[in-house]
Amino acid sequence: MRNLRGDVAVKADWTMSEKLLENVFMKRSQQKKKTSPLNYKERLFILTKNKISYYDYDPEKGKKKGLKGTVDVEKIKCVENVCPEENSPAERQYPFQIIYDEGPLYVFAKTDKIREQWIHKLKQVVRFNKDLMQKYHPCFWVDSMWLCCQQEVKQALGCRVLETHNGAFTRSRRESRKPLPPTPAEEKISRPLPPQPPPRQPDPSPGMTVIAEYEYTPMTEQDLQLRKGEEYTILEMVDANWWRASDQYGKEGYIPSNYVVEAGNGLEKFDWYCSHMNRSQAENLLRTENKDGGFLVRDSSKAGKYTVSLFTKGGGDTPGSCRHYNICPTPQSQFYVAEKHNFSTIPDLINYHQHNAAGMVSRLKYIVSNRAMNAPSTAGLGYGVWEIDPRHLTFIKELGNGQFGVVKYGKWQGQHDVAIKMIKEGSMSEDDFIEEAKVMMKLRHKNLVQLYGVCTKQRPIYIVTEFLSNGCLLNYLREDLNHPSPIRLLEMCKDVTEGMAYLEAQQYIHRDLAARNCLVDYNGTVKVTDFGLSRYVLDDEYTSSAGSKFPVRWSPPEVLLYCKFSSKSDVWAFGVLMWEVYTLGRMPYERLNNTEIVEKVSGGLRLYRPQLANERFYSIMTICWQDKPDERPTFQDLVGTIEDLLYELQ
Ligand code: ADP
Ligand code: MG
Repeated sequence: MRNLRGDVAVKADWTMSEKLLENVFMKRSQQKKKTSPLNYKERLFILTKNKISYYDYDPEKGKKKGLKGTVDVEKIKCVENVCPEENSPAERQYPFQIIYDEGPLYVFAKTDKIREQWIHKLKQVVRFNKDLMQKYHPCFWVDSMWLCCQQEVKQALGCRVLETHNGAFTRSRRESRKPLPPTPAEEKISRPLPPQPPPRQPDPSPGMTVIAEYEYTPMTEQDLQLRKGEEYTILEMVDANWWRASDQYGKEGYIPSNYVVEAGNGLEKFDWYCSHMNRSQAENLLRTENKDGGFLVRDSSKAGKYTVSLFTKGGGDTPGSCRHYNICPTPQSQFYVAEKHNFSTIPDLINYHQHNAAGMVSRLKYIVSNRAMNAPSTAGLGYGVWEIDPRHLTFIKELGNGQFGVVKYGKWQGQHDVAIKMIKEGSMSEDDFIEEAKVMMKLRHKNLVQLYGVCTKQRPIYIVTEFLSNGCLLNYLREDLNHPSPIRLLEMCKDVTEGMAYLEAQQYIHRDLAARNCLVDYNGTVKVTDFGLSRYVLDDEYTSSAGSKFPVRWSPPEVLLYCKFSSKSDVWAFGVLMWEVYTLGRMPYERLNNTEIVEKVSGGLRLYRPQLANERFYSIMTICWQDKPDERPTFQDLVGTIEDLLYELQ
């Protein structure tokens, strides 16, 4: 038996399956979003001319065990060094990356020499591949961010141009006998590269001053208190959700990153500005205040634009009404609303209209603000906390019963609202879930139900999440909505697409998107929940596509026929969810059973147009139900389509 730990085996002759190299490396898991020591495993790597195969490995016996995975050499787009992370342990000092269609594969060699041998050999075997990359990321993708350029999208184009082109290595003796024509990739090297777009402006970075938008009371001793409106200096961005900061008195600690803003559009300091508020929420707030001339400025449904929402009281018994005015930019970068009174800033414009109606239904008389309202959820209950002490939980009432058992409403440390899923024993593959929970904790978006943590030291285990007082979307549609307008319904769909676009960017597949897996907040905001959870269900009726609980009615043909899940199968499910919204919670394909649905949907049958949806709304559903997954839009596309439609309608 060869000594697998150090030596390299290079064979002189070269048939397809002949080993070119064989070494034991550490490999970073490609599935896990959060990097922890558990994500690194020792694997035996074997390179042949066609494939990299890696195997489970018994270090005691120096023996190869089961095959864990393969990468086709022809799919490789780039092979390069990676800068080791700060303070990385000894066994991870010599990382390199193999980029192929499924993203980066990170491996760690035991010595620099072995790493060089692999990189050199790999560059040699891939050099005629199609689509070789010209730019790459010199640092790791960690915790949903490229460390080199801070971009938060995994597919983001590389930020550094390759110094040595992937294929720019001397040819081996055998290959030089049969010269190949230059590939387009090779030709490209001699041409100058196109000018680089300017790097994306990073979000707040260390040293920057931010302003607290909300009060934050420390949840652990390491946290720092935030006082609304005060300034803080960012010291370190530990991850996307928790930053270390200092206050004006030099006190340091961790803060939730979504509680502070870098004075971005400059509107944060005005009480009339309500970011993240949609049209219906603005109307609700203005009606509740019930003041003639009550107004606020909110983000318009179109990103980067703003809308003034204004309430006027009707005379006598007639109820008041809301008007919405888009703040329009002029080609000279000025702003106006109702008439062509132009102002160079939005605060100037608001100030003017506080004194003059000038085309609006009334002047802007009273500021209506939601500022004192609920602060957003934090990713976890304090920095680094994901195991929650069950003694800190109080149970208040039962909310319902689901696939995993009872769900209860309660408080954490007597004051924070939480929902607690008590996982019925035998219903979940718990160890796998607990591992995944660390990844899920990092997912944070205003339209995703936040996972706060887990209690795993006892049975049953608990999953602790954000609590949403209006409960499940399906019941909300069926029971609580009173003659909703098509616009209100579209806003609910927009909430879902925004949460899903975030998951899509994180390459996270939901697998069970449906109205029953969305929840509604106190103010009507819809949030997606239970993402990825179906992978941990232990119930064949639910997990097998032939099972009675499988979400057949939400599944596209490729899932029904080949169990092929993707973000595009989530898009199909979104189309069905939108249909549920516009039918106020009807069961899709009411008259068909699961077997009939598989047959008819694969044959081209689609859901009918709901009465509340006109052709334009319905067309958004039908584009999600294209037969071919590639022809369906992405969630990012859907956000844009719905934004445009809402903008037109208001
Ligand atoms: P499971 O995913 O285990 O099948 P569900 O998530 O469907 O369970 O939960 C069952 C019910 O509990 C839901 O229909 C909903 O009414 C309620 N519920 C679950 N999570 C929350 C939450 N975070 N906030 C408010 N209500 C919730
Ligand atoms: Mg559920």
